[in-house]
Amino acid sequence: MIRPREGLGLRNGYHSPQLNVEVRLNTNESPFELPEGFYRRLGEVTSKLSLNRYPDRSYSRVKEALAEQCSVEPEMVFAANGSNEVIQSICLAYGGHGRKAMVIEPTYAMHSQIARHCGLEVDLAYREDPRSLNFVEFERNLASSNPDMVFLCSPNNPTGELLDPKIIELATSASDQTVVLDQAYVDFAATPWEYIAAQNVLQSRTFSKAFALAGLRFGYLVASPEVVEILEEVVLPYHLDSIKQAAVLCAIEFAPQAEETHGEIISQREKLVKELIALNVEAYPSDANFILIDFGEADANSLWNGLIKKSVLVRNCSGWPGLNNHLRVTVGNATENQRFIEALAELLR
Ligand code: PMP
Repeated sequence: MIRPREGLGLRNGYHSPQLNVEVRLNTNESPFELPEGFYRRLGEVTSKLSLNRYPDRSYSRVKEALAEQCSVEPEMVFAANGSNEVIQSICLAYGGHGRKAMVIEPTYAMHSQIARHCGLEVDLAYREDPRSLNFVEFERNLASSNPDMVFLCSPNNPTGELLDPKIIELATSASDQTVVLDQAYVDFAATPWEYIAAQNVLQSRTFSKAFALAGLRFGYLVASPEVVEILEEVVLPYHLDSIKQAAVLCAIEFAPQAEETHGEIISQREKLVKELIALNVEAYPSDANFILIDFGEADANSLWNGLIKKSVLVRNCSGWPGLNNHLRVTVGNATENQRFIEALAELLR
């Protein structure tokens, strides 16, 4: 008999509908194609593979290349099919009945969903003000929950802000508490990514956003070698196929070109924020490649539908905790952003 679904915390309508529209600004993908020459190089390397054989189970070249990128040792890198699978592997290793995770809403919904699927009890705390998580509030919630595992997201999805470093420090100060720090959007932030040298911190990152490779499904984690060893035990054998491993190496070769797009996304983001403010709506300041918008009294559901009629798809966050009448827009290229702003301006008129 199927496991009862109540209590699994499946947020109604969580997954963004994949609609056939002209302007797709709903899932925080990169608007840019892969760098010139990427697909040619991918063709070259994949034509040399022997797909009759299983892939390198320990994906050692991928680990080495990622370790070099992050200035850590290869033994400190774990990778999987998207950072969602990284999070699932963590929950399988650290979860189970009798274990508790703390999640502070509003944040990335998959943290609590995956944790519950893996048998963890999830303590949900809610920010008093969705715009930012303040230290005192976090300290209070952490003390009253006393979880085995804490999920933090910085920059946070969907609000966009970097967490106060004091929050991360406090969470990691209890050595028996595992801290999952989801840094999917860190490449768009004002401060560069840094390795946090603490045994209980697991920093996850993804190729889906800044690397423009959402279609590849690849994410990774940097943590202590002891943590990585445990995760390798939990994950299925040969989980990273040979084509993916080759594609990841290829993407790392092209990393400098991919990084050139980050500046453009950041400047488009700042332009969009100004344009939104000019439309008299509240745009949350963002360190990510998306912007959360508070429409106040205006009905965000009908705005979302109106945008779809104009072939512009954004994320409707209205049903999310504390986010009544909020929409989240991914920063697209100049043309896409203009289409969005023009469509929104017409609807607000
Ligand atoms: N973490 C956060 C905060 C995200 O927003 C997302 C994707 N929306 C993910 C993880 C998952 O990314 P992926 O599985 O594509 O690596």
